[in-house]
This record gives sequence, structure tokens and C-alpha cells, in this order.
Amino acid sequence: MHDQRVKKVVIAGGGTAGWCAAAALTSQLGPLIDVTLVESEDIGTVGVGEATIPTIRTFHHLLGIDERAFMRATQASFKLAIMFENWARLGDRYLHSFGQIGKPTWMGGFHNVWLQARAEGLAGEIGDYCFEHEAAKAGKFFTSPEAKINYAYHLDAGLYGRFLREFSETKGAKRIEGKIQEVEQRPDDGFISALVMESGERVEGDLFIDCTGFRGLLIEQTLKAGYEDWSHWLPTDSAIALQTASVGPAPPYTRASAHEAGWRWRIPLRHRVGNGAVFCSRYLSDDEARAYLLGAIDGEPITEPRLIRYRTGKRRKAWIKNCVALGLSSGFVEPLESTSIHLIQIGLTRLIQLFPFSGCHNALVRRYNEQADVELERVRDFIILHYKLTERDDSPFWRRCRDMEIPDTLAQRIALFRDDAYAYQGPEDLFRVDSWLQVMLGQRLEPQGRHHLGRLMTREQMQGALDSLKNNIADAVAKMPDHQTFLEQYYPPAEA
Ligand SMILES: Cc1cc2nc3c(=O)[nH]c(=O)nc-3n(C[C@H](O)[C@H](O)[C@H](O)COP(=O)(O)OP(=O)(O)OC[C@H]3O[C@@H](n4cnc5c(N)ncnc54)[C@H](O)[C@@H]3O)c2cc1C
Repeated sequence: MHDQRVKKVVIAGGGTAGWCAAAALTSQLGPLIDVTLVESEDIGTVGVGEATIPTIRTFHHLLGIDERAFMRATQASFKLAIMFENWARLGDRYLHSFGQIGKPTWMGGFHNVWLQARAEGLAGEIGDYCFEHEAAKAGKFFTSPEAKINYAYHLDAGLYGRFLREFSETKGAKRIEGKIQEVEQRPDDGFISALVMESGERVEGDLFIDCTGFRGLLIEQTLKAGYEDWSHWLPTDSAIALQTASVGPAPPYTRASAHEAGWRWRIPLRHRVGNGAVFCSRYLSDDEARAYLLGAIDGEPITEPRLIRYRTGKRRKAWIKNCVALGLSSGFVEPLESTSIHLIQIGLTRLIQLFPFSGCHNALVRRYNEQADVELERVRDFIILHYKLTERDDSPFWRRCRDMEIPDTLAQRIALFRDDAYAYQGPEDLFRVDSWLQVMLGQRLEPQGRHHLGRLMTREQMQGALDSLKNNIADAVAKMPDHQTFLEQYYPPAEA
């Protein structure tokens, strides 16, 4: 009656992907499966991945993770937005916040009213009508069980792995330390049967989760998934990462500042700041990127600058036979907009929903892969948008981005917004209308037309509605504490 073919799950790799997988599988399916994770301290993890998006809170909620315990363990801070600097033009600055802008109607987005009002000289900046935007701009933060604020975190990647490891081990995950030397396949159908460790130990399993990072030891080196290269759309291929001491209160946003051949991140944690320069090696050498980053940081470096190479794109299939790739082994879009940890976590929720109790049947595997593909393609389009919509003419890198061909799906979105101010969130889209809107406007894509729903209001009605929205937000923000003050009270500094 209980014909369960997949019981032993083996996770290869103990970075964020591996320990997220162990945490999700043990906490959700614990009594039904055995989970073993294999990792090598000698190889280590990629060591970056410290900015998140609000979906991480849903994942933690599903797993029953306590917010304060998680924040204390990972020295996390709150994140309301990303501050983009110098993207469309040098000197430009805009916030992409996680909030909702104005109040949408069934007929059309709030921005149509705002565009009408702006044309009539009645409107402020679009961000004035978004609570999270204004709170981020003012460096403020507050949350409580009743608060409706939409936020994410900045976290220490190494500490997050440790936190999830402890969580998973208390839920029954087993951990094996050591290097995987060989991946053994069944001769008849090529399914993976065991990981053979350097010590000679064989770790047998029914389902294998490849979390071995860029190398993709199982999905690529063994199962030859193949890679779809997206570097013609997303040309950065390198990053130099460096941690520094904090030099002031942590703002509740990530900074993404464009430079001549890429961009630089600044992620404020509770105990330090994560910095990195993302660049395209065709336009900037490693030495130049390192010198640029060292010249741009604020605080004292506390680590050596570390070079990371990557290739933007995705595995042709994330799930093959009895192996599912998660995290960097499944592909990498770009650090911009912090989507990788989300993609790991959404992949896990899908895997749990489609868990192959009765075996890795083709239709199940196909369903997983189709969903993973479309999700990733929508994220890819959103990231390309930032590069494509540049007016920068000051470097070959930006001229190349401005002039590049883009996927049809994105070209269609840009045309819809440019011609008719129409923005939408499709069923597979991660990013909401508000995100598309903030980035398109922030990147100076000015709509030529719009829905005329604003004209259904009188001038006075429009002015009254906009003013009351703006004033309510300003009043609420004025009453909030500074982010740093709130953080210190939320989990005490003694434990920082
Ligand atoms: C420059 C950069 C910036 C990023 N910024 C963000 C961000 O801000 N937000 C975000 O969401 N994501 C970001 N990411 C992505 C994020 O870092 C990853 O998605 C996340 O860290 C997961 O990595 P991973 O676990 O897949 O791989 P890794 O961290 O590389 O872990 C691989 C694991 O496999 C193990 N392993 C490998 N080979 C073997 C072997 N032979 N035997 C035993 N064990 C082995 C390693 O020891 C390690 O434990 C960024 C990525 C890059 C490159």
C-alpha cells in the first residue's frame, strides 16, 4: 500500500543551497525520508549571497524559523529596498523598494493616475506614494506582528549556513564531512546510486540533490545536463568580494552602484559590511576591479579581496533522472536584485510539492523543469532590464548593454510600458508590477501614453487622493525609529 521508492535523500554540498535543502526537507518531510548531507570544509562555499528578497520570510515561516533567533544567529539587518546609483545616467539615483505604490484599481495601476497628475503638475515623485520607499529613504524601520511592512534581510552567508545546519541537524539531518571523489551510476539506467568519498565511504541514496556550486558535480560532470549561456544578455562574469568594518548606522537597503564595466554592491549587516565589484572581464581587468573596489569602500577591510568567476545562464535541465540541481549548480542569473537564495527556496518548495515518492517519473520531472525554466527566464528578463535601459555612453561596456538585442519577452514588456504605460505581473513572475514600475521609471523609460482612468477624476479629487496618500505615508514614516535603533532593540547588541 505504501510503495515508497524514494526514501533516502542525499544532498551533495553544504553551502546555502545544501543547508536550505536539508532544513526544508527534514522539517517538512522528516518522518517520511532520511536526509544526509555531504560537504567538504576544504573546498568551502562561495561565501557571498547576503542580500535577500521578502519571499525568504515565507520560506522561514513554512519551516517554523523564529525571526529573532535567525537574525541574531546571522547578524542580519532589515532590507526594504535597493538603491541604484548611476545606472541610467551618471549621477542618477533611485530606490527599488519592496512596497506597493499607491492603490491599484481593477481597471489599471495607480501609476496611470500618477502620470495624469504629473502631467497636470499635481504629483510628487512616484516613491512619495509608497510606504517602504519612503521609510528606506529616511533610513527608518519598524515591524511588529500586526505591521504590514514588506521587507527582507541582509544576512551573513557563512552564519546562515551554520544556522540552517544546526536547525537541520536537530530535525534529523545527518552530515558527512569529506570530499566526494566519484559519483556512481546504475549501469542499466544511469541513475545515480551513490557518492563515493575520498575516504572510500559510499553514500547511497534514492534521490540526490546537487548543491555543489558552480562545478555541478552531479548534474553536469556526471549527468551532462549542458548549459544555456546568457552572457550575451548578462555580460558580467566576475566579482571581487571584500568585507569591511561598519562605519555608521546600517541603512535598510542594499546599494548597487554602477561603474564603468559593471556595478558594486554594499550590503550592511549588523556586525560588518559586505562589498563587491561585479564586472565584465572583457572590459575591466581583475587588478583594475580590485583597485576600484578598494578605492570605493568606506570601512577598514577585514578580509582579503576574493575573486569569483561565473558564467550567467542555466543548466538545460535542473532535474535529470534522480538528481535535482539547486543553487549555483543549477545556474546563475546575476547578483543584481538578489534572487538566487529565493530561487533555491522556491525550488525546494516545488520539490516538496512534487516529491517523487513513487519514483522519478518523466511527467513529474518535466513539470518541475518547466516551472523552473519559466521562473528563471522571468527573473532573467527583469535583470536584463537594468542593463538595457541605460543611456550611459561613457564606456564600451554600457554602450554594448544599451545596444544589445534582448529576449522578445522583455522587448514586449518594454514596448508595452513605453507606448501605453502598461506594466503587469504574469503568473510565473517573481517581481510585482511595483518592481517593474520602479525600475522602468528609475531607468528613465518614460511612457508615451497611458490608461486614461485618471481622467475619470476631477483635478480636485485627484489632488486630494494623492495628497492624502502622501501625507499619511509621511506621517507614518516620521513616527518610525531609525533602522539601526530598531535593530539594536530587536536583538540586543551584546550578542552582536
Ligand atoms: C558574486 C556573487 C554575489 C551573490 N550575491 C547574492 C545575493 O546578494 N543574494 C542572493 O540571493 N544570492 C547571491 N548570490 C548567489 C548565492 O551566493 C548562492 O546562490 C548561494 O550562496 C548558494 O550557493 P551554493 O550553495 O549553490 O554553492 P556553494 O556555496 O559554492 O556551495 C557548494 C558546496 O558544495 C561543496 N562541494 C563542492 N564540491 C564538493 C566535493 N567534491 N565534495 C564535497 N563537497 C563538495 C562545497 O564544499 C560547498 O559546501 C551571489 C553569487 C555570486 C557569485
